[in-house]
Amino acid sequence: MTDLHPFIAGLPKAELHVHHVGSASPRIVSELAARHPDSKVPTDPEALVDYFTFTDFAHFVEVYLSVVDLVRTPEDVRLLTFEIARDMARQNIRYAELTITPYSSTRRGIDERAFMEAIEDARKAAEAELGVVLRWCFDIPGEAGLVAAEETARLAVDLRPEGLVSFGLGGPEIGVPRPQFKPYFDRAVAAGLHSVPHAGETTGPQTIWDALNDLRAERIGHGTSAVRDPALLAHLAEHRIALEVCPTSNIATRAVARLDEHPIKEMVAAGVLVTINSDDPPMFGTDLNNEYAVAARLLELDEHGLASLAKNAVEASFLDPAGKARIAAEIDTYTDAWLAR
Ligand SMILES: [Zn+2]
Repeated sequence: MTDLHPFIAGLPKAELHVHHVGSASPRIVSELAARHPDSKVPTDPEALVDYFTFTDFAHFVEVYLSVVDLVRTPEDVRLLTFEIARDMARQNIRYAELTITPYSSTRRGIDERAFMEAIEDARKAAEAELGVVLRWCFDIPGEAGLVAAEETARLAVDLRPEGLVSFGLGGPEIGVPRPQFKPYFDRAVAAGLHSVPHAGETTGPQTIWDALNDLRAERIGHGTSAVRDPALLAHLAEHRIALEVCPTSNIATRAVARLDEHPIKEMVAAGVLVTINSDDPPMFGTDLNNEYAVAARLLELDEHGLASLAKNAVEASFLDPAGKARIAAEIDTYTDAWLAR
């Protein structure tokens, strides 16, 4: 069997579901931890690997929030954002919609305008210096409730940084029903932002229906449980509502027991537009290239299949048509050249 890793490594890719703080590599986290010595996060990159080993979803959220606490100044924000783009460039990621939770930073006292300037400054530098186009999704941390929803909607609509394209909802699903967030999504959508909530990762298909009907979701974060509802799968397929699938994350958080049991095959078989993503890559010991390799194994893909998967992400992105055409053409050119060698 062909080793697809070299092909994947060079394949131009787009990523649609990846979190800002969750993309902090051990090197970046150790730098931040050293700058904030009162934190309980280890500063030694090797100790961080153990620190990032989760027992369940609740534990993951706890560790994640301790890293959130390291991002305290606009300079922390800028450094984190630009270094994430550097890791993306190394993987030939050309475009990413990075999910940012501004509420976590503003409630810690970072000035909201300085925060927006920091991410925008990093975005422009990443595009100019690294060739990585970044866009933002501002998400509500569901565990923080309606206060966080109100604040996130205000920051998104009133301060709206240039790179912001969408509005999301993350955090735990159990005990955090989606419909309560309807007014905030209505405001974001009315302001021209796209709706991309997490749904159906740790709860059943009804949560995905709620995300579609109440939050007007245009893509679904995870959507793992969609396969339990054939009518839902048919709806997603018919309306080209993409699922942002993050295989390794689903195992790390125990949303799926084993990779071989991952429902991605059923999603694809039902005609759903599936995209491959890394979610919180260093925390889950993965990166986007590895997620493509996992998908290739689960879906039994060759180079053409991987190129189609990469183009799914381009299609489902909120990039402008010219930008989409450019990356899709890059994928085709790369694949043709690879296969003609
Ligand atoms: Zn996520």
